[in-house]
Formats: sequence, structure tokens, C-alpha cells
Amino acid sequence: MFRIGIGSDMHRLAAGRPLILGGLRIESDRGADGHSDGDALTHALADAILGALCEGDLGMHFPDSDQQWKDADSLQLLARVVWLAHERGFQVANADATIMLERPKLREHIDAMRDNLAKTLNIDVGCVSVKAKTGEGLDAVGRGEAVSAQAIILLERESK
Ligand SMILES: [Zn+2]
Repeated sequence: MFRIGIGSDMHRLAAGRPLILGGLRIESDRGADGHSDGDALTHALADAILGALCEGDLGMHFPDSDQQWKDADSLQLLARVVWLAHERGFQVANADATIMLERPKLREHIDAMRDNLAKTLNIDVGCVSVKAKTGEGLDAVGRGEAVSAQAIILLERESK
């Protein structure tokens, strides 16, 4: 039995903030503003799992108002969501995601992000796809004001 879920996230970029995507710190003059570490890719993946489980969204499980999640490591949030799926009897089958960021170029970092995410999702790296696009100079992403990510995840019943 399968469940499918979709997730998306966007963070404003600000000078002096670290840029973290897929748990990887990337050299950049601006990073994501946000209550947690602002890891839009990891947040989109976690939201996709919650969607597949019909368990609301990330903000519901880890509210901004809770100091516990200030500057939180988003891979840890994702690990909690994976654990929740496990509690419901599901494991991740595969994940596909797209990051939208004008700069820096992410190509050289993609495999390291996939490794981080595969470990956290408890699946083979061959089942985790991360793609990166620019905003072609348009909208908030294109103007370098924001980073966004979209993700889709398939869950399957755990074989016991
Ligand atoms: Zn986020």
C-alpha cells in the first residue's frame, strides 16, 4: 500500500545568515531568514511526508512560537517526521525535489545533499533526487530575494 505527498517551502534571503539546504552549509553572502535554520529543501520534504500521512504540516508539528525550534537543525525535524511515518507503519520509497535559487549555483553540492537526505530518510541515495533551478531573473527567487523548494514523496507500507 502506498501514500503520496507533496511539499513546498520558501524562505526570504538575508545578508549574514547561513545558507543551508539539505542539511549542507553552502558558501553564500546571503542565507535563509527563518525561525529554524531555514532549510527550505528539508522543510519541503518533511511537509511532503506529513502530507502523505495526512498529518497536517511542519508548522503544526514544530510551531515558530516554540523556542525549542529556534535555529533548529532541520535534518533533525525531518528525522522526527520519518519516525512519525514509521509509527504509522510507513517507510519512504523515494523522494524527488527541486530547489529554486538564483545564486550560488548548486550543481556541485547536489550529491552531498542527497547523501544527507538519504541517511535521514533511511533510504538508498539512489532513491533521493535533488534538482536545482534558477528563477531566470524573475520573481522573488530570480531577484535573489528568496529560496524555495518543492518535493514529492512516496511512502510504502513497511515490510515486517
Ligand atoms: Zn521552511
